[in-house]
Amino acid sequence: KASGSQGCRVPRYVRVNLLKTSTNDVIDYFRRDGFIYRGRATSVNDLKHLKGKEFICDLHLPELLVFPSTIDLHQHFLYTAGHIILQDKASCLPAHLLNPPQGSHVIDACAAPGNKTSHLAAILRNKGKLFAFDLDIQRLATMGTLLLRAGVTCHQLANEDFLLVASSDPKYQDVRHLLLDPSCSGSGIVSRLKQVTEDEESASPERLQALSSFQRKALCHALSFPRVQRVVYSTCSVHQEENEEVVREVLQQHRDSFRLVNLMPSWPYRGLDTFPEGSLCLRASPDQTLTNGFFVAMFERWSGEKTTEQ
Ligand code: SAM
Repeated sequence: KASGSQGCRVPRYVRVNLLKTSTNDVIDYFRRDGFIYRGRATSVNDLKHLKGKEFICDLHLPELLVFPSTIDLHQHFLYTAGHIILQDKASCLPAHLLNPPQGSHVIDACAAPGNKTSHLAAILRNKGKLFAFDLDIQRLATMGTLLLRAGVTCHQLANEDFLLVASSDPKYQDVRHLLLDPSCSGSGIVSRLKQVTEDEESASPERLQALSSFQRKALCHALSFPRVQRVVYSTCSVHQEENEEVVREVLQQHRDSFRLVNLMPSWPYRGLDTFPEGSLCLRASPDQTLTNGFFVAMFERWSGEKTTEQ
């Protein structure tokens, strides 16, 4: 099992909401507000030494700005007006990697509270259809507020069990991109107060087994949508039972039609070698990538050519 990290500081990540503004406008706004812009980072190390009111543009995601962990922007105008989203860098990876083209039909299978949905909508520039499901009505209500503030208009929210959404429904016949970020142990989440990962006791073997059983079912269901080309699977867990093992098993069952995409070859922290393609997946952690603990894999419908990179 990969472990979390003790006492590591994770910076404050700010995703510019491209539905409402541009990265340059946000940078200018912060500069006028007394912040000091340090340009674009060239290595993860550059994100480590920010202090006071300094900020920098992330090296992997161009619409991501990085501030010292001590900065709290919850009351800032740009946040309350929906121009920026406070979202950990690792949690920005799934939508960034899925990268659906404008106008396409996309499913966000376990969507609330909706940070990744709003990121997908920004990538789509609100052009296309974004079907978002969640079982939890309260989390969906929070999500409605968040999406409204972010200016998202291309979504259809449904309080439905994703496992029961009929993949044969003609409504979803044009869905080619699907994001699956299912319930997980949350063992990779860094507490902002304590700045340590909460590798909770609640991640007992029984709980992990129940979670991974749901995750496998949800991933198989995602691959059952008839025209789906790309499915991104992510968790904020450090446990291989919820990550590499889920992906390995589902891949084994779908080898004839799906393979894994080699994600961001320059990303330093890879999936564990618990199966031959483990290294095609991404891991993230406070120590290695200055983010929450996270895991991402992407399935691609297989048509017989050589492995692709993204
Ligand atoms: N993707 C979200 C985001 O970025 O804001 C976070 C999703 S959270 C990790 C997992 C979500 O899955 C929870 O909101 C939970 O209510 C939902 N969920 C759990 N089981 C589900 C199911 N069978 N169908 C749909 N949603 C489900």
